[in-house]
Amino acid sequence: EYTRRPLMAGNWKMNLNHREANKLVQELNFSLNEKVFADVEVVVLPPFTSIRTVQTAVDGDKLLIGYGAQDISQHTAGAYTGEISGAMLAALGCSYAVVGHSERRAYHNEDDAVVNAKVKAALASDIAPILCVGEGLEIREAGTHVAYTLAQLDGALAGLTAEQVKKVVVAYEPVWAIGTGKTATPEDAQEVIGAIRVRLAELYDAEVAGATRILYGGSVKAANAAGIMAQPDIDGALVGGASLDAQEFAGICRFNE
Ligand code: PEP
Repeated sequence: EYTRRPLMAGNWKMNLNHREANKLVQELNFSLNEKVFADVEVVVLPPFTSIRTVQTAVDGDKLLIGYGAQDISQHTAGAYTGEISGAMLAALGCSYAVVGHSERRAYHNEDDAVVNAKVKAALASDIAPILCVGEGLEIREAGTHVAYTLAQLDGALAGLTAEQVKKVVVAYEPVWAIGTGKTATPEDAQEVIGAIRVRLAELYDAEVAGATRILYGGSVKAANAAGIMAQPDIDGALVGGASLDAQEFAGICRFNE
C-alpha cells in the first residue's frame, strides 16, 4: 500500500490553446471516476494562457482535477518582462508549478541557483514545486547518473527547512527518456529514486524522506505505468506526450485497475 498519495501530473508543454485545453480537461474528467480520484491525485499543467480556462472548467463543474503551471518566476513582481509570478499563479488557484524541467535547463540556461530560487518562490506563494532532476545520455553512459542527479537535488533544495521540503514533489526525469519513447526500466528509475529518498533522509530526516513524493518522468504511457508504479519508492509520474490524449492519460491514472 502507498503511504504517499500517488500523483499523476500531465505536462502539456507548449501545446493546446485555451479552447483545446477546455476540451481536454472535460474529456479527461469524463474518462475518470470517483474511485480514481479517491486513489490518485490527477493534475494537469497547461501553458500559462490556458490556466484561467482550466480554472473556470474545474471550478464551474466542481471537477476533481488539479492544475498548475509549467514554470514560475524566481522574482516577486516588477520589471521582468514576460515572467509570471507565484502570486499570479496562486490567484488562479494553481496548486503546483514545474521547476527546473530539463527543457528549461537546456534552452533557458536555468542552473541550480535559478532552480533553487524558483523552488523558494513557489513555496512562498503556497504552490508546491514539482522539481525536475535527471541526467542526460552522456552521464548515464558514464555511469555517474546517481551522483549527478543528487547534486542537482542538493542545489535545488539548498536552504529549505524540513517543513518546506515536504511540500516539494521531486520528479526524476532522465533526459534521454523524455519524448524519446525510451522509458527507463522500472529498476533503473527505482535505483535513482531510491537514492533520492536516501539523500532526503541524509539532508533532513527519515520522516521527511518518507513523506516526500518522488515521481518518474520519461515516456510514461498507460502500458508501462503499472510496472513503474510497482517500485517501492515511485509515487507517481510526470507525463509529457501521453498527457495530451485523454484516454491515454486516463489509462495512466488508472494504473492500478
Ligand atoms: C516531460 O517532459 O516531463 C516528459 C516526461 O515527457 P514525455 O512523457 O513526453 O517523455
